[in-house]
Amino acid sequence: MDFSDKSVVVTGSARGIGRAIAEQFAAAGASVVVSDLDQATVEKTASEIGGKTIGIVANVTDSEGLESLFKATKEKFGSLDILVNNAGITRDTLMIRMDEKDWDLVLDINLKGAFLATKLAAKIMMKQRSGRIVNISSVVGLTGNAGQTNYSASKAGLLGFTRSAAKELASRGITVNAVAPGFIQTEMTEALSDAAKEKFLQNIPLKRPGTPLDVARAVMFFASKDAEYITGQVVAVDGGLTMQ
Ligand code: NAP
Repeated sequence: MDFSDKSVVVTGSARGIGRAIAEQFAAAGASVVVSDLDQATVEKTASEIGGKTIGIVANVTDSEGLESLFKATKEKFGSLDILVNNAGITRDTLMIRMDEKDWDLVLDINLKGAFLATKLAAKIMMKQRSGRIVNISSVVGLTGNAGQTNYSASKAGLLGFTRSAAKELASRGITVNAVAPGFIQTEMTEALSDAAKEKFLQNIPLKRPGTPLDVARAVMFFASKDAEYITGQVVAVDGGLTMQ
């Protein structure tokens, strides 16, 4: 795929799946903005990725920071073509033990963060009359998961948000799609117990955990010209875990 005339912002991309997405876009020639919480880390990741990659700090819960991020992207690269809403966190525990603050934090970052970023990016993309937005949801947004009521609600919410935004933005040439990863090897899943990892693996028909690269490839398809007639869709990248 050739993205050499495209600029891409990936939120939460200093490490994990977001970093792999940024790397793949850069390898395909795109101008990439690595965006995350810490200045030193975004700069380090951007310089390791190389090519036309820059690092800009932005917290997805801070709409002023996001506005500066998109303004800087447009000033530096001339357009904002692709937004990947990837930043996300977990605060897992059983619902009856869950603090209100852990509910709010997960919903604020995973769901409201995507709304704030999409709203601001869409304003720029609407003027361009083109754009691609890809939201990183999760299979637990489709199936639910004990111990993840806050996380699965945020990821299910992201799917409803994806479909509604897709309907609102289609007439301006902007597509909005979602990728729902399954069990992917990153620092987020490293924290799971061996028993939980084994349970996931037993239920994956393709019999291996996913990699950040598996997710990045699906994101790039949605962002590519080949997907120009696809909007409001979700694809699970999960080795068959949730197939119906
Ligand atoms: P990760 O390794 O924990 O990376 C998440 C990144 O997001 C980190 O760099 C983190 O920064 C950043 N971040 C956290 N809060 C942020 C905020 N408020 N604003 C901007 N950036 C923020 O996670 P991952 O496994 O790569 O997951 C990436 C996405 O895929 C998430 O949305 C996750 O829910 C989703 N997902 C992952 C899996 C999986 O199996 N790994 C499965 C399904 C879905 P810090 O390092 O500073 O905290």
